[in-house]
Amino acid sequence: MTHASRPTPIDEPTRHQILSAQAVSVLDGIVLTLPASCFIAVTIVAVLWLDAPNTSVLYWLAAIFAVNLARYITVRVIRRQNIAIERPKRALRILSLGALAGGLTWALTPFLGTVIGEGGLNPYVVFIICGICAGAMMQSAAHSQTTMMFAVPPILATFVTLLAIGTPSSLVIAADTALFGLVMFRTSQVNEREFVRSQMDRLNAIALAASLSDANAEINQSNQQLSALVNTDPLTGLANRTLFNNRLRDAFAASRSADTLALLTIDLDRFKAINDTMGHGVGDAVLTEIASRLTGLTGEKDMVARLGGDEFAVIIEGTGAEARARLIGKEIIRIAGEPIVVGERSVTVGASAGLALYPAHGESAEALFASADIALYAAKAGGRRKLSLFNPLLKARIERQRLIEATLAEALEKQMLQVFFQPQVELDGGRVTGFEALLRWPHDTLGAVSPPDIVRAAQALHMSTALTAYVATRAARLLQALPGYGLPDAAVAINVSPREFSGDTLSRLLIDITQQHDVPPSRMEIEITEEATLDTEAAGAELARLEAAGFRLAVDDFGMGHSSLAYIVSLHIDRLKIDRSFVRGIETSRQNQTLISALIGIGKALSIDIVVEGVENEAEARMLQSLGCRQAQGYHYARPMDAADIPGWLAQHAERFARQPATDVT
Ligand code: C2E
Ligand code: CA
Ligand code: CA
Repeated sequence: MTHASRPTPIDEPTRHQILSAQAVSVLDGIVLTLPASCFIAVTIVAVLWLDAPNTSVLYWLAAIFAVNLARYITVRVIRRQNIAIERPKRALRILSLGALAGGLTWALTPFLGTVIGEGGLNPYVVFIICGICAGAMMQSAAHSQTTMMFAVPPILATFVTLLAIGTPSSLVIAADTALFGLVMFRTSQVNEREFVRSQMDRLNAIALAASLSDANAEINQSNQQLSALVNTDPLTGLANRTLFNNRLRDAFAASRSADTLALLTIDLDRFKAINDTMGHGVGDAVLTEIASRLTGLTGEKDMVARLGGDEFAVIIEGTGAEARARLIGKEIIRIAGEPIVVGERSVTVGASAGLALYPAHGESAEALFASADIALYAAKAGGRRKLSLFNPLLKARIERQRLIEATLAEALEKQMLQVFFQPQVELDGGRVTGFEALLRWPHDTLGAVSPPDIVRAAQALHMSTALTAYVATRAARLLQALPGYGLPDAAVAINVSPREFSGDTLSRLLIDITQQHDVPPSRMEIEITEEATLDTEAAGAELARLEAAGFRLAVDDFGMGHSSLAYIVSLHIDRLKIDRSFVRGIETSRQNQTLISALIGIGKALSIDIVVEGVENEAEARMLQSLGCRQAQGYHYARPMDAADIPGWLAQHAERFARQPATDVT
């Protein structure tokens, strides 16, 4: 047996509500019944009076009116005091008592004047009594008790009277009346049950609707919480990449005119270093502070997002977007560079920003974002702490650089980079004094990649050390081979970019490599651009370590920078390499001649070797020689070449100088 078939028990509040509905329904019904009852009573009196005038009929009529008036007043009181709603049981009790009073008055009808005559009970009166009882049943359908309180007395009185009369026709009508009473009783019960059920259904429907709307509200709330989680960056509270992408897409979905949408992408400079050296706590504090500075700069319509790591973006919407974006971009760079206090410490980062404008720089969300990103990349490559506006020419250049970066690691690993060597010779007699190692990368898809592009990519990928190791290893191999070519004293130079001079990674690496190849450090030369020699104490310390280990040091592109001579002297530089720009037009340019001889004078005074780069023809060589220059490097002697080609070139070179010895001018 299951309990499923049992009717659901009705709880107290529901019962109360149902009783209220019953009381209200009965109340509404009575308002119609009372005047009707008075009217019918008047017609009965009229009919009886016409038959035979009789004062008892008038008393009865007065009684009906009085009872109905009393019931009417009760109804008013119940209504005014809201008893039907607040205490429905009581209201129903009062109403059924009123019904009983009405019923009792109507029960007197059979005993009025001529109602009982020779032909038995006046059939008109029987008809009226049954009619008025049926009316009561209809009006009080909600409450069977009220119906029955009204109907039972007149029906019973009629029934009993008919029995008393006792004629066959009276007995038949008595039986009909009894049957009518029973049917009424049954029907009124069914009516009440129907009413209660319909009320239950109504209440259930209301409850269901309420709980549905509660559930709906709950779902909405959880949805909101979920979307907040999905759409914000937990650290900074800014929009995250998902929300940013959606917003940017929405911005494009709305039809817009020119100069109403701009996109800034922002990247912090030096953030990785701060995170690595000061810890993630400081890194997080920096990001949070930058986020709040960004938010402070933008308007309500703009959206600031953190795209991940130290990358941010701002969507600027509305008329005059370009001007506003430029202003915001410049301000970002300014305030991002102001010190950030984290606990006891003060940290300084910088920011670079890229700007792209709709529609000139992108007609879709993806295109605009890519353009802003390219502009950002250019800002960083151009020395950081810059705002750079996208320009279509940048695109190709940057895509190329991206491809270089994407393929460099693999190329290094698979040894697809080549190291070429360019000889350095004595102007007088052509003796080979050394070689400079220069990178070459014949790229599968990009063609020849220039060494500065390779170096920049390595820096971006934090692979400079690996790149230097690659070149130095090949330089060391050449050093091993040179005695075999009859050049036991020749040096091999490698280029090292300025940034590699912080820390002692470089010196340890080069010491390792020379030891592994069993070549003396004194034959490996390290070319540094003037920039590096200018840099901080850290670079000085590393240069001192290299010098102590016996490496030769050369200042590259001399004359281009602004090195202090005193500083160069203090570093014990072995060689100065005069930049090839001074050699251009040396035969005719008095100015370049004066400059070169001044530089040569400095070298002599400091006992530093001088090498002139970029000698391309015999005339330049002769002029340089006449200016006191001893060593040169350039296409006139040889282009940079593969190590395997060196023996062949050496043979040719020896032959050339043997045939055509340089005219000694000194
Ligand atoms: P750099 O150190 O000044 O190298 C000399 C550059 O001048 C080389 O260009 C060389 O090929 C070129 N050159 C030599 N003789 C002549 C000549 O007679 N006329 C002309 N017009 N040019 C001549 P390259 O190989 O393209 O290298 C360019 C720069 O890339 C180098 O300038 C150097 O700063 C850098 N680089 C090359 N290899 C490396 C490397 O392994 N590591 C680092 N850090 N930088 C490198
Ligand atoms: Ca060089
Ligand atoms: Ca140079």
